[in-house]
Amino acid sequence: MANDTNRFQAIISHCKEYGFIFPSSEIYDGLSAVYDYGQNGSELKKNIKDYWWKSMTQLNENIVGIDAAIFMHPTTWKASGHVDNFSDPMIDNKDSKKRYRVDHLIEARIEELEKKGDKAGADALQQAMDSLLAASDFAGLKKLIEDQKIKCSVSDTGNWTEVRQFNLMFSTQLGSVSEEASEIYLRPETAQGIFVNFLNVQKTGRMKIPFGIAQIGKAFRNEIVARQFIFRMREFEQMEMQFFIRPGTQKEWYEHWKNERMKWHLSLGIPKEKYRFHDHVKLAHYADAACDIEYDFPIGFKEVEGIHSRTDFDLKSHQEYSKKKMQYFDSEINQNYIPYVIETSIGLDRTVLMVLSEAYFEEDLSTPEKQDSRVVLKFPPRLAPIKLAVLPLTKKDGLPEIAREVMDACKSQFRCFYEEKDAIGKRYRRMDAIGTPFCVTVDHQTKEDQTVTIRYRDTMQQERVPIADISRIVSRQIEG
Ligand code: ATP
Repeated sequence: MANDTNRFQAIISHCKEYGFIFPSSEIYDGLSAVYDYGQNGSELKKNIKDYWWKSMTQLNENIVGIDAAIFMHPTTWKASGHVDNFSDPMIDNKDSKKRYRVDHLIEARIEELEKKGDKAGADALQQAMDSLLAASDFAGLKKLIEDQKIKCSVSDTGNWTEVRQFNLMFSTQLGSVSEEASEIYLRPETAQGIFVNFLNVQKTGRMKIPFGIAQIGKAFRNEIVARQFIFRMREFEQMEMQFFIRPGTQKEWYEHWKNERMKWHLSLGIPKEKYRFHDHVKLAHYADAACDIEYDFPIGFKEVEGIHSRTDFDLKSHQEYSKKKMQYFDSEINQNYIPYVIETSIGLDRTVLMVLSEAYFEEDLSTPEKQDSRVVLKFPPRLAPIKLAVLPLTKKDGLPEIAREVMDACKSQFRCFYEEKDAIGKRYRRMDAIGTPFCVTVDHQTKEDQTVTIRYRDTMQQERVPIADISRIVSRQIEG
């Protein structure tokens, strides 16, 4: 493959061709930055969700999960700071009318400098941007864009408007009659559903600090520069966990969760060098420390997960706005306090893209006699949409009947797929393309000795095993 842009495009096409991800409402030409998951994509996404949920709520005895509503009382977003602060500095090109996020525009220039080998220039520009963003110096940001002679990719001019803030929340009306209606927001993060339920969960679950509340759910952001496939969407899913701690202990818990989350990422079988931490210079209004876990996507190192030390900002603010006490009585030290919070927030869709990027291989299998190649998705077995394909070699001689028996014996334990059409080689290739780790072929010998061949996706090796062993072999690999 020529370069990473091609690789990224190839992954996008593959996702569409093999039922992973489609543009939303495609028959109407799609909706920008909104995507639908197909039959294989939704299984992959669900497996990732289950893996995260289990590692948070089942393997940590002091973390429980909730499922809060998307709609929340509008004051929630006043208290959280989103009404006043959840905005990005934007700039428009007067000739093309195209709108850009200022940091994206400058980051593209930084990448250009890096590609040219001007590391010092790139670092200086990064620093200049970070400090202007931290100071919310919009005039300075515009000057930086002009000084760098950054041009619009459509009009090719540097004819820019002033830099302005743009709020990313979607709003809608609650209530059937317009006079009664009140403006509410589609949640831009799932975290607030956890904060407003902090006391409900703590009291009913008799939770003792330190403890965490996890949640998976949809979030919505009116991203202006929505691009890069499912990396930046307007409707997406987050997997968030808020960990409530004693004030003053935030530094050690922040380090703890940085380590824990990196371990989780590595447990996906992705090598260490594909990840890096990126510490935030400009901290969000609620944080006293923050970093991202970045993965080396085909489009470069980008954020997959944020880890934030959120202080007591959210609970304190909800206490102020709701006039309800958000305090916790710590019987060990005999004190009341508002807990501090460490948040881990990972984008589910970005994780799907990360797993797909890591799994996608184009392999040349040519021999001197014959040209051959395959596209294979080498998912970890536990994440693969289909775990086992059951394939009778031919449609006759009683082989489909035996294959059906294998299906019946396995399908209640893990997802299986049955297929009898086309030559066996073609069927293997189709399974490779959707990442099925195991194919079992029922042939004439099966009738004699109750054995089948099992084919391993990554090595393409085959071995003969008794039918009675299939489910154990596959289950063991799924559990890893
Ligand atoms: P970015 O800087 O890329 O806009 P962010 O720092 O605003 O992301 P957070 O608010 O920390 O993101 O959200 C936590 C996680 O949610 C991110 O790490 C990312 O994986 C995911 N996420 C955020 N915005 C989007 C989006 N528009 N589309 C898909 N995933 C998103």
